[in-house]
Amino acid sequence: MLGTQTISDLSVHCVHIPAKAVHSHGSGDVAGINVAILELTTDAGLTGWGEASPWPVFTGTVDGAAAALNAHLGPHLIGADPVLVGHHMALADRLLVGHPEAKAALECALLDLTGQIVGLPIAELVGGRHRDTIPLSFSVANPDFDTDLADIAALVADGVRILKLKTGFNDHAFDLMRLQKLREIYDDTLSLRIDYNQGLPAYDAVRCIRDLEAFRPTFVEQPVKMHERAALAAITAAVDVPIMADESVFNPVQALEGAGMRLADIFSLKIMKSGGIRRALEVATIARAAGIDVYGGCMFETGIAHAAGAHLMAAVPDLKLGCEFYMPTYYAADDLLREPFPVRAGLVTVPTDPGLGVKVDRTKLEKYRTA
Ligand code: MG
Repeated sequence: MLGTQTISDLSVHCVHIPAKAVHSHGSGDVAGINVAILELTTDAGLTGWGEASPWPVFTGTVDGAAAALNAHLGPHLIGADPVLVGHHMALADRLLVGHPEAKAALECALLDLTGQIVGLPIAELVGGRHRDTIPLSFSVANPDFDTDLADIAALVADGVRILKLKTGFNDHAFDLMRLQKLREIYDDTLSLRIDYNQGLPAYDAVRCIRDLEAFRPTFVEQPVKMHERAALAAITAAVDVPIMADESVFNPVQALEGAGMRLADIFSLKIMKSGGIRRALEVATIARAAGIDVYGGCMFETGIAHAAGAHLMAAVPDLKLGCEFYMPTYYAADDLLREPFPVRAGLVTVPTDPGLGVKVDRTKLEKYRTA
């Protein structure tokens, strides 16, 4: 409870876990998971974990996140009460501009400790869960589509029914061919989503997206550059398929502006963009008030950040579009958790143990340590 424990130690572990296969996105290729893991220890021997999972073309770098935690956010925590999460996060915002991934790691480790101290899972600490499982979306992003088709067959056999095609890294005809092939094979048994990761030129985006509509996508994500906000709003107004903003909406300020200009029909929530679960819930609240839907997105993450994301998406009141916490199960060659991240039959199970509710494998932390 309040005042019963203080933070006595802080460590940052930089980790690289290789991918099973390179994934291509409109904004570049990614061949593994590069993260900074935050470990907080209390004087009573509890350990709280958090993860910063930056993507250099999107949010920041591992080096930047590690430096933010070690030099700027960490020193103030030693001797502090971990339960005062809001106080520590407000201080973090006063000390350091940006660095949302480092702040997400910090908040997660504090909530992990708080949950263990009071005996509640993080989802309950931030308002309480609305669901125990979340439908999983897998991102189809292999430049070799035949390999993707084999992977998709295995995923469908596993119970996955949502696929997000990463587009815009090859040409438009390649994207249309893949959609046509998937509808031929799977008809309407799958929810297909399309993510350009900013890969379409603004001048041609409406025409390209109208071509996709024949294949009945559930939504089209971030067609244009993150700063091309007027173009994104114009696309949202022009096409019938729902448009989702990812790179263009990080935080409550951008969400409020985005709601006002009807930037998109859906916002992708990510703790690495907002700087933690509580801020992502603020984005969700603004979206809900504006009649904008939300979705559980992620970066290239281990099971630690995925668990935090699962607690976030469990606490969102309305969730129809699922989440994409598939990295340790289907993308990375390994994970940092002792038990596999809980994905079964196309559903992510929200952890129920106190705090983050997952256990970190220290052998793996050492195995994949980079510096
Ligand atoms: Mg995206």
